[in-house]
Amino acid sequence: MYIFYLHSQLMEGEIHHHLDENIRPYIDLIDNLRSVGVQKDVSLPTIVVIGDQSSGKSSVLEALSGVALPRGSGIITRCPLELRLRKVTGVEWKAVLTYRSKSKADKKGNDVKKFEFKNSSNVEKHITDAQNELAGKGVEICDDLITLEVMSNDVCDLTLIDLPGIVRVPVAGQPEDIGDQIKRLIMKYVQKHETINLVVVPCNVDIATTEALKIAQNVDPEGIRTVAILTKPDLIDKGTEKGILKVVNNKVIHLRKGYTMVKCRGQQQIDERIPLEEALEEEKEFFQNHDIFRCLLSENKATIKCLAGKLTNDLVNHIKNSLPRLDEQVKKLLWNVKNELTECEGGPPQDPKGAKEFLIKTIKKFNSNVTSISSGELMLEENLFAELRGEFRKWNYTLNQKKSRFNNVKELMKKNRGRELHGFFNYKLFETILQNHVAQLKEPAIDLLHKTNGIINKHLTDMVSRCFRNYPVLQNIAKDKAENIQSSQQYKTEERISEQFDMENVIFTQDPLFLKTLNEITNERYSEEELPLIDKKCKYSQMLETYYEIVAQRLTDQLPLMVTNFMLKQTAEMLSIEMLSLVDGANVSELLFEDTEVSRRRTELRARLGRLTDAQEALNKFI
Ligand code: GDP
Ligand code: MG
Repeated sequence: MYIFYLHSQLMEGEIHHHLDENIRPYIDLIDNLRSVGVQKDVSLPTIVVIGDQSSGKSSVLEALSGVALPRGSGIITRCPLELRLRKVTGVEWKAVLTYRSKSKADKKGNDVKKFEFKNSSNVEKHITDAQNELAGKGVEICDDLITLEVMSNDVCDLTLIDLPGIVRVPVAGQPEDIGDQIKRLIMKYVQKHETINLVVVPCNVDIATTEALKIAQNVDPEGIRTVAILTKPDLIDKGTEKGILKVVNNKVIHLRKGYTMVKCRGQQQIDERIPLEEALEEEKEFFQNHDIFRCLLSENKATIKCLAGKLTNDLVNHIKNSLPRLDEQVKKLLWNVKNELTECEGGPPQDPKGAKEFLIKTIKKFNSNVTSISSGELMLEENLFAELRGEFRKWNYTLNQKKSRFNNVKELMKKNRGRELHGFFNYKLFETILQNHVAQLKEPAIDLLHKTNGIINKHLTDMVSRCFRNYPVLQNIAKDKAENIQSSQQYKTEERISEQFDMENVIFTQDPLFLKTLNEITNERYSEEELPLIDKKCKYSQMLETYYEIVAQRLTDQLPLMVTNFMLKQTAEMLSIEMLSLVDGANVSELLFEDTEVSRRRTELRARLGRLTDAQEALNKFI
């Protein structure tokens, strides 16, 4: 926008000075605030253009921005168009058009459509396309914002919003309440204290009846943030000039900031593709050659250049006036954000060192919980040992159940008798009966292993879920590790159980119980050194039972010890070590990735805190 008055020989020196010392810092401030994204939290000073349909709003905007916009008769602007002018030194002219698409979002959930332009010739068509997509191809309007960001050396940082024109009578195809719809949309913008309302009124209508002016007066009775523009001075009826001059001189409807008259490109000039710069020249000539309006030039009440200068001043003054309020809002929001953040604290710190310490602490806590349940320490929520003991008892019960199964020994002997004659005792037979009997225990033993494995897995998984509740990545890793360790430990234990049963296949004992039983049966007192030869008087069933008793005694503890040692103690130790080794060379932030409502809120609040803190810092230099 500066281009217009920087080129003006009359004001150049003065404006330059003015610009550097009084204007630039304020525009930069708002620019900075916008670049830290604080407009998401507070409204920043903006200029909004309002006026009746075809009053020349878009024409004024394009003259100010140097970008051709869709204009003409009828309802042309159907969505709010945000024109962000950014002064960027040392780059080629560039513009970016963005809006939220009505069609489905892409795979990444992104619904923002973005078009980049290297020159301004195609912009107009794309804006029309965007409007058609958002508001439909007809004549309806919509609230969705289309943003055109123009980056150039020749514009200043200024945001202007073009709004649909006010209509009173719906045209064919428009809903009955189109007038109300548009008014509602306009009100949304003009009532904000941060907005400068640029009211566009054509010279060739009765300005007293202008709706836009009424709206502006309504939301800003003192006229602090209302700027009026009179357009189309070339189209007035001969003879009405004097009346219009009265308006411009603030004698009809008084406005604190007064009026500026501008002449933009008419339809014919557009059709003839008269460039914007040329149109500016023509405007100057128009006023210079106008008998009545000529005086407005020296009074600084006419031309786009003059308007641009006023607008910049107005905006800067407006920014100055808005600062205390802005500061207050930012302070209040900061206070709120800090309060809200304390409510959802407890997440990992953001700095790498703190995050790593947090990770170590989290894993150590998990490890100490794992150690606790594996060593059977009493934990209120955890009852792993109680469940395991249940399985151990069942194992004991199975062993006991098989004790009294030898009373049919005669049957067994008959069935298993080999080549030997009656009356001869076959030790092999004794052994075989025992071997078979004990071998039957292998299946329940493996069953015990599987059941206890399931119980331990359930408790470990619960523990993982609880300790790493907010960290799905950590959770999955821990669950995988636990499962892998468990399955290799189960394999190992199964081998040990098999070995145990291989050993049980060797019938052997030096348990004194056996001798005791023998003495009871024979009514003698033998010692280990002088054992009797067992004759058929002996009650084999009792001998078998006694031996089995010894085996059962061995196994009733042996299996639970194996399970406790291999499945629980070793698993817990291995898991702890593996979890702790995660810390070395880990991608800490990935491991601590959070996936909860709270964490999303915390992330958003932290971002907000950052924005507001930056804003506060920027504001502090001005307040
Ligand atoms: P909007 O609906 O308020 O945005 O109005 P536009 O900017 O689209 O302008 C409506 C019509 O008036 C267009 O054909 C413009 O070319 C024309 N127009 C705007 N300003 C002037 C002007 O100062 N002089 C002349 N002759 N025509 C103008
Ligand atoms: Mg328009």
